[in-house]
Amino acid sequence: MTYEYDDQNVFAKILRNEIPNSTILSTEFSLAFKDVAPQVPEHILVIPRGPYVCFDHFVMEASDNEIIDFNKVVAKICVSLGLSPGNGGNGYRLISNSGRFGVQEVPHYHLHILGGQPLGRMLQRPTS
Ligand code: AMP
Repeated sequence: MTYEYDDQNVFAKILRNEIPNSTILSTEFSLAFKDVAPQVPEHILVIPRGPYVCFDHFVMEASDNEIIDFNKVVAKICVSLGLSPGNGGNGYRLISNSGRFGVQEVPHYHLHILGGQPLGRMLQRPTS
């Protein structure tokens, strides 16, 4: 697995406190904050603090503690925002874009939590 991490990406700068963010939850290994350009009423990004480029990089190379912490943060936010169907919420969608075909803009692994309105079908047929 060969990934080169660009430490000048915008999420690396957020983690170094070089640019501000609207934090939702911060832990030893993970940070969750509001997306600066929300696509739906609830649009949260969760990132690991470690230098991982995308999902497979993170899961293959991060420690179990980092992976567990990340997933717990995602779940806690789904519950605390009232999105969890198990708590009477209307549900949510998790998306992680990877690489060129996945149209990943920021090369630091992140998971989008989307909710707060009906989200439609999972994918629309790509136009290109
Ligand atoms: P992706 O295409 O999955 O890489 O999406 C990157 C996401 O990061 C987009 O939804 C952007 O709106 C979001 N984003 C970019 N810069 C910032 C920032 N400074 N603070 C919060 N979200 C950001």
